[in-house]
Amino acid sequence: MKSLTLAELEDFLRSFASAYDLRAPIALPDGTRVLASLDQGPLALPGGPVDSKPTNVFFPQLDRVFTARPGEVEMQQSLSKPLLVVGLTAEDAESLAFTDEFFASEFRDDIYFNKRDQAVIIVLSGRCGKDGAFLKIAGGNCDLELVCDGQQYILVPRTETGRKLAARVEVGRENTSLPELERESDSLPTEDRDILEAASRLLQQDRVPEEFWREIADRCIACTACNLVCPTCTCFEVFDWKEGEAVARYRLWDSCQLAGFMREASGHNPMGEEHIRTRRRIHHKLAADPTRWGRISCFLCGRCDEVCPTGIGIKAVAREMVRRYG
Ligand code: SF4
Ligand code: SF4
Repeated sequence: MKSLTLAELEDFLRSFASAYDLRAPIALPDGTRVLASLDQGPLALPGGPVDSKPTNVFFPQLDRVFTARPGEVEMQQSLSKPLLVVGLTAEDAESLAFTDEFFASEFRDDIYFNKRDQAVIIVLSGRCGKDGAFLKIAGGNCDLELVCDGQQYILVPRTETGRKLAARVEVGRENTSLPELERESDSLPTEDRDILEAASRLLQQDRVPEEFWREIADRCIACTACNLVCPTCTCFEVFDWKEGEAVARYRLWDSCQLAGFMREASGHNPMGEEHIRTRRRIHHKLAADPTRWGRISCFLCGRCDEVCPTGIGIKAVAREMVRRYG
């Protein structure tokens, strides 16, 4: 398989800029890495998961659904150029596959698929995490995977689209280190996954008492950061905004940690107490989603544990649950 140096890879990606709307990890002035277009900052491909919610490319924080004028409704249209999204991790790609399934079920969400259809996904894995940390190899859920051996990025197509992209490489050299990197990926620790699964079983068996959630909720300051970064959080609210003669309908991310999340027009609020909302944040991913979708909807991207200012991200809570009730 062919491999490229980082500089060659950056040139290769830039060569797609006329055919695609390219989104890749870039560094903001404060050092934050986000998925954005290349005019937003310098490329920062190595470094592991981007700080921002990676699925926001298809499900942005604020999205116009339609604009209504007298006698006319203008729906959101598909993009003029397909998106080429580079820099998801294996966990992000799993999260995206789950989000695709979510938005396609029962009612197909055109606003999401206006951006997602035709999009090309490129995962980064291998020795290109923060400070050279090894990132799990995805093996799928993307079109092309770039597996870093520490020096070079091996181009591993995962779909026909990925094969066509890889075939456009004009430079590059043969690289035989993929099998060794795959063995390293297979031997990565599974402790976090084991804890999450044990916590999921406890919740499904209803073995976690209300006092636990009251205690955890006492530490939540409702900053909503956990929801804002989570690639599988999909809740949104809808509002209308008058713009001259027109009215635009938008959707905006919501957070289950906010007091008004489920408040109804009557004032009744089925999640009016903080411990119920905290329980829901964890229970939804570890118990409700396995029942509905057949799998836990946390793919251990690590973001909520990274951003929670009070240390109650999902891994921390799952670990505590298993320690006390497992
Ligand atoms: S680790 Fe946290 S942010 Fe990441 S998928 Fe799981 S719940 Fe979401
Ligand atoms: S990040 Fe932590 S403190 Fe903030 S809303 Fe989420 S759980 Fe609560």
